[in-house]
Amino acid sequence: MSGLLRRREFLRRVPLEPRYDVVVIGGGVVGLSIAYNLAARHGIRRVAVLERAYLGAGASGRNTQVVRANYNTPETVPLYKASLELWRTLSQELDFNIQFSTQGELDLVHTRDALEVERDKALLDAAYGVPMEILTPDEVLERCPHVDLTGGGELPVLGASYHPPGSFARHDSVVWAYATAATRLGVHIHEGVEVVGLDVAGGRCRGVLTSAGPVAAGEVVSAVAGWSSVVARMAGLKLPISTHPLQAFVTEPVKHVIDGLVSSMDLYVYVSQTARGELLVGAEILPYTTYSQRSTFDFLAEAAKRVIMILPIAATARAMRQWAGLCDMTPDSSPILGRTEVEGFTLAAGMGTWGFKGAPIFGLGLAEEIATGRTHPLLAPFSPDRFARDRMVPDAASAGTH
Ligand SMILES: Cc1cc2nc3c(=O)[nH]c(=O)nc-3n(C[C@H](O)[C@H](O)[C@H](O)COP(=O)(O)OP(=O)(O)OC[C@H]3O[C@@H](n4cnc5c(N)ncnc54)[C@H](O)[C@@H]3O)c2cc1C
Repeated sequence: MSGLLRRREFLRRVPLEPRYDVVVIGGGVVGLSIAYNLAARHGIRRVAVLERAYLGAGASGRNTQVVRANYNTPETVPLYKASLELWRTLSQELDFNIQFSTQGELDLVHTRDALEVERDKALLDAAYGVPMEILTPDEVLERCPHVDLTGGGELPVLGASYHPPGSFARHDSVVWAYATAATRLGVHIHEGVEVVGLDVAGGRCRGVLTSAGPVAAGEVVSAVAGWSSVVARMAGLKLPISTHPLQAFVTEPVKHVIDGLVSSMDLYVYVSQTARGELLVGAEILPYTTYSQRSTFDFLAEAAKRVIMILPIAATARAMRQWAGLCDMTPDSSPILGRTEVEGFTLAAGMGTWGFKGAPIFGLGLAEEIATGRTHPLLAPFSPDRFARDRMVPDAASAGTH
């Protein structure tokens, strides 16, 4: 079947209307989740999603698909726990197989400090009903016999934390699942339409200026992740966000060697095995800011070295493909969710390295806030004004950043 036919079947082409109740900027998993939830849970169907490229062109089509709830603060644990619950039934809810699969997450630790952090995290997570176990090195081998307990002879493994609900979902499927479900409910999705300005006057946002002309809106939502600073500036807002690239690579397919996610908390590297057999390797964000999505050889060499230190069997697999995406990092490594000081302008920003797993609850919560004017209790700690109020939610350790 040609790509054109599939496109007609999945995404009905509709004209861009001059006015919508809600305009969502950004056709990634978060923007689409917001649009779907507005229509499905609140009957708000005059909604447009404006995407300047194609659905999933941003980080939503480039991530490593990890879904988990083992976070480090009383605010983030319940948030991602609620999201994980929504993930479990998302295929049924959206009537689209998102290939959700629970396989567990094994986080190796090589230093006493990291072990302490994981112990504290396990206690906090248990208090919120999120399963986490602390494993000895022998128990690590029971979970994953391929782990090198000497850490490549350089960084011995002292133990691990294990998070049984750690899961994956196929990222492209999730984007298309939300898009098709939203479309069925009457949401208009426009690819190839770029927002170039916002119509803001008297402290109120009344619509967007696009490459296809102006569009009025009762509410405008920015869900553009790596480009959040650019779009917020169109509303006259300066966000405490810096945009950094995050990269990943896959090897050629190899026989089944690991279940779930295996990571190193001290080496900042993680690896899983896709359904096709590829080893999928990710690491930390690059330390510099840029909007470039070019991948680098330095990342490939360093991530490959680190993954071989914990999983020597990876040395036998040839790297096949690598890529990069943008992460909008906040000072506290937590998302920015909610209405802003500009009336009619809502932010789903600060998606960083965690926006994929959060998308179901971010969409549900923000749709509720837009529809009812009430802030969802789980989203309240993440409001855009928390920086001015000095109420940050610091969780860098969970985000895999320094
Ligand atoms: C390599 C990598 C690995 C990751 N791994 C994970 C993971 O395992 N688990 C996890 O939870 N998170 C992970 N993330 C983070 C996660 O992918 C993102 O936080 C999430 O996808 C953000 O989704 P989004 O919909 O907010 O933004 P995006 O998917 O980035 O979508 C934003 C969209 O906005 C569009 N856009 C931008 N400007 C405009 C404009 N002016 N007008 C119209 N459209 C515009 C872009 O084209 C883009 O399609 C990873 C990210 C990367 C890069």
